[in-house]
Amino acid sequence: MPSLQATAALLEQSLRTRRDLLGRRSTGVTRESLDRLSRTPAPLSQISNLKCEVPRGTQFDALREAVSVCRKCENLAASRTQTVFGSGNPQADLMFVGEAPGVDEDRQGEPFVGRAGELLTKIIHAMGLTRDDIYIANVLKCRPDTAPGASGNRPPEPLEMQRCLPYLREQIALIQPRILVALGKTAMAGLTGRDEAMGAMRGRWFTFENIPLLATYHPSYLLRNDSNAEKRKVWEDMLLVMEKLGMPVSEKQRGFFRSAS
Ligand code: SF4
Repeated sequence: MPSLQATAALLEQSLRTRRDLLGRRSTGVTRESLDRLSRTPAPLSQISNLKCEVPRGTQFDALREAVSVCRKCENLAASRTQTVFGSGNPQADLMFVGEAPGVDEDRQGEPFVGRAGELLTKIIHAMGLTRDDIYIANVLKCRPDTAPGASGNRPPEPLEMQRCLPYLREQIALIQPRILVALGKTAMAGLTGRDEAMGAMRGRWFTFENIPLLATYHPSYLLRNDSNAEKRKVWEDMLLVMEKLGMPVSEKQRGFFRSAS
């Protein structure tokens, strides 16, 4: 796994590019900051302090740029249409994390835009939120490649997620959400290394980098198992999230999918 120093180096490279292209005034990045970033090995505390000096939006843009040119997985870099960094509010209290872009996401450059994405949007609306209120990202930023002519998507390999995780870790550190929701077993494995059945993990609180993390089913699971009983399980998980965030929950919301079919 790349070190924080390696991530800082990527940040430095991206900030230098932005500074060269846009000039110091537009980016707010000083030569002193860049020089300090390029000193290696730097104590972790120094990097953290330095990153605090750079505006959060600039760091976010720099990270996005670093991801967009990443070739750590040569096969995925060669097959992708584009990287899929994430979407939504970079200052959100709530962040959903999926496993990897699929064919639709790879085409559009946005996470969760296919059928599973439409269902996730409905769930978010049922919570009284919009996609602009929250942030959505995947553990993997590139679509896992498939054999030529093969249709569909494949789940990411553990090694691929391990390589890409530092980007998500950095993204989460910048967004600072109050709550994380892992969508599905693979996302949970990518975030925590846990390899348990989703039925045993869902509805339970874990932590990731000291942030409360709830596991629930991936929306594509609900597309395959669309009984009210399964929908209710996911909805109960969302009620836990709403309560933890201190959101108001109406009686109508409490009753969604209560009658199991
Ligand atoms: S999946 Fe992540 S680590 Fe691999 S090439 Fe894409 S951005 Fe880089």
